[in-house]
Amino acid sequence: MSRTSKEQSALIERLAAESFKDHVLTKRDDGTWRCAKPGTGIYSFNVFAAPGVVFVWGDIGEFAFRHSDANGLAWWLYAGSRDYFLEKLRACDDGAKKEFMFGDAMAHLLECERERRKELDEDREAERPRCDCPTPPDGEGCRRRATVHVETEDEEYDACDACADRFAADDVKRTPLTYNAKNGLWGTTIEDAAAEAGVELDPVLDRIAKVREAMSYVSDATPSEQSRAWWEAWCDQGNSDPPECEGWKSGPLWCWEAAQVFRRLYAAMHPDAPKTYAEQRAAEASS
Ligand SMILES: [Zn+2]
Repeated sequence: MSRTSKEQSALIERLAAESFKDHVLTKRDDGTWRCAKPGTGIYSFNVFAAPGVVFVWGDIGEFAFRHSDANGLAWWLYAGSRDYFLEKLRACDDGAKKEFMFGDAMAHLLECERERRKELDEDREAERPRCDCPTPPDGEGCRRRATVHVETEDEEYDACDACADRFAADDVKRTPLTYNAKNGLWGTTIEDAAAEAGVELDPVLDRIAKVREAMSYVSDATPSEQSRAWWEAWCDQGNSDPPECEGWKSGPLWCWEAAQVFRRLYAAMHPDAPKTYAEQRAAEASS
């Protein structure tokens, strides 16, 4: 199964940490920056920061950012979160910025299914009979969850395991209580047990299963084909607004990792430089 966007990010973070670990940062006379392992161009990249734009190019690809800061280097160094940073990406040799993540879609289905099953279990347990054993110490049923139906010569009642064992003689009849998914009732009959064992699907689970089945036909298709199939499968099930299940492509993720290594190396070269965007703003205001 294909990766989720989280797994994809983690993978690239790991690869980048390895690939960038011997990089050094140098500023050229023309104002551009180079970040590379000395003596090799592998995984090297260059950065040019100007008012409103930042360009990145090299072995990791080509990227153009558009930002609103008059100080391009400050934006590159201090631009907050990854999502904010990548939202400013205007061009990338990797094509569109985000793509459909099949793994995210499958994880979403699994989560929907889990939630639905939990709801059903809760509904079902709320309906479960309570222990009504007539002979516990206080004379009334203990009201714990009943698990069996007990029949003696002169009475019958639902009982929990403990009461059934303590108060019912060996010759009484005990029948496990089962849930009838068809009518939402608890009981002891063969018909109840058959319905419980049957594959009668809940309507919500049924819709989820149908979406999953539709997606199985496009598991090897391109992200844009998968995205369309996802939307169509949900529309067929009456939901025209399915979750997008999109993640950043690997090119932008590499660029974000490059920005991180650039920031660390720059900070090491300039120990007195501002550490945050707010500090940078304050430093600009006071100079
Ligand atoms: Zn009991």
